Amino acid sequence: MKPDLTKLRNLGIIAHIDAGKTTTTEHLLYYSGAIHRLGGVDEGTTTTDWLPEEQARGITIQSACVPLQWDGHTINLIDTPGHVDFTAEVERSLRVLDGAVLVIDAQKGVEAQSETVWRQADRYNVPRMIFVNKMDVVGADFEAAVNQVKERLQCRPIPITWPVGQGSIKDSHDPFKAVIDLLTMELCEFLPSSAGRADGKTVKRSPVSDDLRPAAQAARERLFDVLTEFDEKDLITSKILEGVEPKLADLITLIKQCTLAGHFQPVLCGSGREHIGIQLVLDAVIRYLPNPLERPAMVGINPKKNVEEKRKTSFDEPFAALVFKIQADAHGELYYLRIYSGQAKSNSRMLNPGRDAKEFLTKLYHVKADPSDKIETLDMAYAGDIIAITGPKESITGDTLCDPNHPILLERIKFAETVVSMSIEPESSGDKAKLEQTLSLLAKEDPTFRWNLDSETGQTLISGMGVLHLEVKCNRLKNDFRLKLRVGKPRVSYRETIRQPKRVWGELVRTTGTPIFARVELEVKHIDAGVRFNNKLPADKLPPLFVAAVEQGVKDALTSGEVGYPVINVEVNLLNAEMREVESTDVAFQGAANQAINQAVRDNSILLEPVMKLEVTVPDTYLGPVQTDLNVRRAVIHDTSFKGNMVTVTAQVALAKVFDYSDAVRSVSQGRANYSLEPAGFQEAPEEVRRKLLGLDE
Ligand code: GDP
Repeated sequence: MKPDLTKLRNLGIIAHIDAGKTTTTEHLLYYSGAIHRLGGVDEGTTTTDWLPEEQARGITIQSACVPLQWDGHTINLIDTPGHVDFTAEVERSLRVLDGAVLVIDAQKGVEAQSETVWRQADRYNVPRMIFVNKMDVVGADFEAAVNQVKERLQCRPIPITWPVGQGSIKDSHDPFKAVIDLLTMELCEFLPSSAGRADGKTVKRSPVSDDLRPAAQAARERLFDVLTEFDEKDLITSKILEGVEPKLADLITLIKQCTLAGHFQPVLCGSGREHIGIQLVLDAVIRYLPNPLERPAMVGINPKKNVEEKRKTSFDEPFAALVFKIQADAHGELYYLRIYSGQAKSNSRMLNPGRDAKEFLTKLYHVKADPSDKIETLDMAYAGDIIAITGPKESITGDTLCDPNHPILLERIKFAETVVSMSIEPESSGDKAKLEQTLSLLAKEDPTFRWNLDSETGQTLISGMGVLHLEVKCNRLKNDFRLKLRVGKPRVSYRETIRQPKRVWGELVRTTGTPIFARVELEVKHIDAGVRFNNKLPADKLPPLFVAAVEQGVKDALTSGEVGYPVINVEVNLLNAEMREVESTDVAFQGAANQAINQAVRDNSILLEPVMKLEVTVPDTYLGPVQTDLNVRRAVIHDTSFKGNMVTVTAQVALAKVFDYSDAVRSVSQGRANYSLEPAGFQEAPEEVRRKLLGLDE
């Protein structure tokens, strides 16, 4: 049966680590009946944290997608990681979800990762809501949290629920216990589903009593003020002016319109640990976040005609889907797809236009949350849905799969440059082939994880987005793939770029033996990002095969600059070329291009090192020691902001200077610091680093 897409929501939950995303998710699954037992993060028994690694560290790394049912709707819940080393995972989930809930900690407010993810979601125009969790902790402050959201995320958060009490018994004479639904002005209490089962599953609604009314009423008026600003069809404004209660359905319509248009973001509050407020989040997801039909059409390129095409969410359009995740284990690979248009049968053949490869969609599945009923096999899959499949061989995360008769290449997910590498070798040399095979598998799953053989040392190097990222991969190799390994110390992945634009001729000319001839003139310029090659030759100057050889020669040469690191942020233009019948070959042009690049880079390269954005929060008494330590690390402090007796320092610092930061900050703050580090691009490395890498100082 074809699904009713108005009853589908593709939802992501985004948050800073420890804000309570896993706890909240667990409640969503439990209340909806997708799981029958409420797992606990602290016991390591939650459903979305699949990997033993996540349970051990208490962090969510993989974004699994599980469906749940609520109020006649299906919500595909796409779990996103909270750790900054895994922004690629967040990025890819944002591509495929239609709406998101940001979970923040009521006491800590907006933290670094929330801000990063929020900006990413801005880029994809994802409609959002905010759930202020942990209303039960010491120091929880709903209004302060909402204000902070407004300032730090530069958005318009508007509460649609209001807390009854806040904080814990320890610090508040009126601790958090319930929420008020501002639309109906009902008190919502969350009672046990049965005696002895404190799970908050039963929602008891009753009219708000007079003592609780004033604060909630004021918040309700603020909500109405904002709604009337956008009430073009006069759904509620006249009624409010006349003192008549607006219809609930009209309020819901208006809030949804505003949320989809990004005029404001509805805010709810609650506590995962105390089982308060979460059913209202489910209701709000259904009411205010978009179904797949309400999202803009997907844009892509028809690779045959090189023109832009669109795919609407419709079963009648040609099939187009994005591979947004691959989960590999010792038994095989499961590919997660977001289908944007069309439909597919099991055992059908689709095209991967990026690789010009035909791929089978052998089996189609919905992967579920309940461990005893994990997988549902489907005969058909439809636009709007997220499914898992087996069958593809060549596709990797970020690839498009589409109808072979209507090829379309959806915009690839952009992945950042890797910043850290380390050497890795099997304890027994017999495992070398297995290691390489497994590394290829992991790289397919996660495009921000790479591996290569160092041609000089013969070592296998793995590289990624941070030390934790690589540690997690190593642990997977050890635990899931049973490989015994020796790993080296983490090292910074440097890059190079060029200082001055240059025009150079390169040539490969041999007159003895079999004569060879190729000459090319290249222009090499610095650009802000990426590596670009443009053929600026007049048409017919050089056969396409030779132009392709020049491009290949350029690419090969750019893998190792003056100091030996990949050259990035350059544009290379092919300006001129000379060829001779017979003597000119593709190999000769490749060699000539290679030589030209080497000349252009010689004495003209800048060494780039990865820099990180560091955010560290400590009690203000530790500000001095933290700052002193940052100065020693040559960090550039951008901001120091105080909240209560806590202070948050934001700085930019070279990655090479913070490998040991977790130990250092613990010692200068006696363990009271909270910090996060995330890649913030590359910048010129100090001369001493360059000299050292060139071996000039030893
Ligand atoms: P995640 O890293 O965002 O997935 O956060 P978790 O759900 O793993 O929660 C982090 C920690 O906060 C765990 O120790 C939870 O038990 C705790 N926690 C989560 N929600 C709440 C809450 O509402 N109140 C309190 N007091 N603790 C919570």
